[in-house]
Amino acid sequence: MTRITLENLAHSYQPKPSHDDDWALKPMNLTWEDGGAYALLGASGCGKSTLLNIISGLLVPSSGRVLFNDRDVTGLPTAERNIAQVFQFPVVYDTMSVRENLAFPLKNRGMPADQIAARVDEVARMIGMTAMLDHRARRLTADSKQKISLGRGMVRQDVNAILFDEPLTVIDPHMKWELRTQLKDLHRRFGHTMIYVTHDQTEALTFADQVVVMHDGRVVQSGTPQALFDAPEHTFVGYFIGSPGMNLLDAHVDGTTAHIAGAQIGLAHGYAPLSGKVQLGIRPEFLRLGSGTQGLPFTIHRIEDVGHHRIIRGKVGDADINVILPEAQEIPADASRVVPDPGRAHIYVDDWRVDPSARERAA
Ligand code: ADP
Ligand code: MG
Repeated sequence: MTRITLENLAHSYQPKPSHDDDWALKPMNLTWEDGGAYALLGASGCGKSTLLNIISGLLVPSSGRVLFNDRDVTGLPTAERNIAQVFQFPVVYDTMSVRENLAFPLKNRGMPADQIAARVDEVARMIGMTAMLDHRARRLTADSKQKISLGRGMVRQDVNAILFDEPLTVIDPHMKWELRTQLKDLHRRFGHTMIYVTHDQTEALTFADQVVVMHDGRVVQSGTPQALFDAPEHTFVGYFIGSPGMNLLDAHVDGTTAHIAGAQIGLAHGYAPLSGKVQLGIRPEFLRLGSGTQGLPFTIHRIEDVGHHRIIRGKVGDADINVILPEAQEIPADASRVVPDPGRAHIYVDDWRVDPSARERAA
């Protein structure tokens, strides 16, 4: 097992990258602690697979280093990194049985037959394939084949890390939850460093202790699910995590006051003069409906009942704004304003959160 450090890592698929867009990964520094359960979350094309393949050694980065503990593995092939990787689509040996497929990584390492048998039985139970152990892999559905791929990824206990690249894409929805639970259980029991790539926030938030959010080739935030919810460091994190995501309003900030859509609201902190694109970010959970001259002018467009709460969709000025109304709360007949909870509002400049406490500490 290992701590994985990425040092000034960057990658371009172009032979001669010249501008920003030529880089699939922009320079990054990141540490994955030994035994951590991580999710790598981001939209399609943001560089997740590129990063994972660099960690596993399928891809050599254009610049920077990969360290396993203190050892530089940047130039080492996959086989010498002692890593298990599970891909989006099944990689199985069609001519072998399920049992032989699962046993393969262990046989390769010269494990005694009785230990292999016990371990294969255990993993087969985890992926729900016990009854099919003697079936040929060829005849199985894509879904079952992918379970074998997952099983093969989990079967060795002596790996440095297990990397999963959107492994549940072809798995049917009700089995997804089951397998995710199994992965979490595996992590709890064996404590491998695990990196789980997904574009699905629910998968990320339920699997990981620590979520690394990527956007456009950059790591924009790494934190607990709670931290990503409470204090998104980048507007993308605010928008991508949560449903609906964080509201963003163009603002002019003057000390402890934000001027938005012709109205003013008080902030919990004071800000030094800000230049650039200034926005106030507030999650739908932390807005309430009001009337008169409170908060900001709000026009309701639509109300969606999503079971345990309602989502009020409307506008403040030109901006689309969502409010989450807890169950059992009524919509006031004269609702024409939204009122943010000042303690839950953040200020962003050019998409990055301004940390007000940095200034308060300096003052
Ligand atoms: P993700 O896994 O987050 O969807 P990828 O790492 O696959 O993203 O891709 C990141 C970027 O690199 C994308 O713009 C993609 O088109 C590009 N890319 C990925 N693989 C290759 C490749 N083999 N050759 C050239 N460009 C690639
Ligand atoms: Mg990918």
